[in-house]
Amino acid sequence: MAAFEFLRLSALTFALVAGAMHAQGADEPALRIVRKIMAEESLAPGEAARPSLRLHLTLALMRGTGWEAEPVLEAAKHAARILAQCDILATSIELTEFEGPDRYRTLFTPVSRRLVAELGLPKPTVFFVAETRHRPAFDAEAVGRGNSRTRPEMADTVWIVRGARDVEAVIAHELVHVLSDSGEHSEEAGNLMREDTSPGATRLSPAQCDKIVKTGIANGLLRPPK
Ligand SMILES: [Zn+2]
Repeated sequence: MAAFEFLRLSALTFALVAGAMHAQGADEPALRIVRKIMAEESLAPGEAARPSLRLHLTLALMRGTGWEAEPVLEAAKHAARILAQCDILATSIELTEFEGPDRYRTLFTPVSRRLVAELGLPKPTVFFVAETRHRPAFDAEAVGRGNSRTRPEMADTVWIVRGARDVEAVIAHELVHVLSDSGEHSEEAGNLMREDTSPGATRLSPAQCDKIVKTGIANGLLRPPK
């Protein structure tokens, strides 16, 4: 049943997927947006005078996952400041807090792809989840274009599991994977893209910035200066 449904869903449009989900499980709570919060302060102080690539960052957090909206928004602002070294300015960061069926609290491709389709939020989107059913169980995962062919709804998303350390560095690190559509890591000391993130390691090389910028623009995730 699950396998069949999986195949059937992949052949339908996003709109039909959303419709099919409403028919499923009449007793479970419906997906409902509780609130949207926008980061208000200037995100990259001192950078405003320079022409910058614009990034609209979307955060999605389900109630009951153990994540709280305000600290998540703060961490995302810090992550945006890390990306400013590549001349990227997060011109908006918007957090959507929602309620819904319990299964959406866990990262699991067959379920999470439906969540993404049903929410229909702008990309890139960073989801904050309670746990993961994927094995190995990473603290965070990035889904770019290259690793989303069998789950196109999830392209340009990041998934961060509760308990992840150094959340701001993790957000920035996973966003680099998405923006550059690459799983590449660096062994350079202090580099943001070391396999294990840490608070002090936030540097990106000119070559890394170049790849982020070129791929991000090509995929419509970064917009050139006005
Ligand atoms: Zn990584």
